[in-house]
Amino acid sequence: MVNLTRDFFIALSNNQFLNDNAKRWGFRLGAEKFVAGTDLPQAAEKVKELNERGISVTLDNLGEFVNDRAEAEAAKNQILQVIEYIHKERLNGHVSVKLTQVGLDIDKEFCMENMREILTKASEYDIFVNIDMEKYIHYQPTLDIVKELHKDYENVGTVMQTYLYRTLDDLKDLEDVRLRIVKGAYKESEEVAFQEKEDIDSNFMEAVKIRLQGNAFTSIATHDHNLIEKVKKYVEEHQIDKRKFEFQMLYGFRVEMQYALAEEGYNFCTYIPFGDDWYGYFMRRLAERPQNINLVLKDTFYTEDNRLKTGAVVAGAAGIATLGFIAGRRSRKNK
Ligand SMILES: Cc1cc2nc3c(=O)[nH]c(=O)nc-3n(C[C@H](O)[C@H](O)[C@H](O)COP(=O)(O)OP(=O)(O)OC[C@H]3O[C@@H](n4cnc5c(N)ncnc54)[C@H](O)[C@@H]3O)c2cc1C
Repeated sequence: MVNLTRDFFIALSNNQFLNDNAKRWGFRLGAEKFVAGTDLPQAAEKVKELNERGISVTLDNLGEFVNDRAEAEAAKNQILQVIEYIHKERLNGHVSVKLTQVGLDIDKEFCMENMREILTKASEYDIFVNIDMEKYIHYQPTLDIVKELHKDYENVGTVMQTYLYRTLDDLKDLEDVRLRIVKGAYKESEEVAFQEKEDIDSNFMEAVKIRLQGNAFTSIATHDHNLIEKVKKYVEEHQIDKRKFEFQMLYGFRVEMQYALAEEGYNFCTYIPFGDDWYGYFMRRLAERPQNINLVLKDTFYTEDNRLKTGAVVAGAAGIATLGFIAGRRSRKNK
């Protein structure tokens, strides 16, 4: 059942048609629970609140399905604006970028040029740029680009997904690169990825231990309290310097735990997604945890004192009707 739900939402996240239309429906359907706003000033409000609690941020100007050069250039310019904004407003934060946003699916060289421009601007202000890891089809090209860029820029790093069998091997080549360790958000085949939580978790801990024994900075990105406890125990037992790592979680998730970890004296960074291209990101979050759907439905349809919100019901009904209409039209077309 859980797998069915996960596959269903991942399939929705991959649907470009729904993705495009979601922008037109607007920022509804509960996305604001996990997305910090549709523009930078809205997101900056949330950033400032977190910074005041001693929490740093990584800003992701959401963007998917970039298929032409003009869109990739526009995405690059938006990322440059985010970097300027972080500097100007003195925010405690960095940026997270997806290579497909800046042209990886169009032309590798063009994508590299865009990344060079982003990294040059970011290094002027001493701002770090993380390259998020996407589907397995992009894995090797992403690693190649990161390694190439790292020759010229110290302020670039990337993400390792511990559901992949090859992660521990690949870590050897990335000893001096700042990395984020995650379980992995996409649906990958058993040819390349562990399918069982137990295996993914154990690979996650192995990767974290290897990194904490090395010198480069590591972001440990998970909402899994069991893994967080294991990391804390390992750090204590091996007297690991807390400056060598941080915990990371996504905006809107386990907020009390985020505050608590920061208050306990751990470096903490919240991943802040924002922008109008929120649909794919939002669907992947629903895929990860069926309880997120309940959370979103409850917030969308009910007030704090458990009364039904009329506006939301109308929006929800309109959304469902639109989906039904679209599905009907598509299946008629496909016949
Ligand atoms: C900061 C950050 C950046 C990321 N970047 C990438 C990336 O670049 N590429 C990529 O592929 N993936 C990325 N991910 C997503 C990641 O790969 C996982 O898909 C996602 O984090 C879910 O796995 P998890 O480790 O959080 O725990 P899960 O395996 O989802 O959960 C484990 C257990 O933790 C508990 N739990 C989890 N969430 C909650 C909650 N909200 N409330 C209460 N209990 C909860 C539950 O008991 C659950 O069974 C990122 C994640 C984070 C946090």
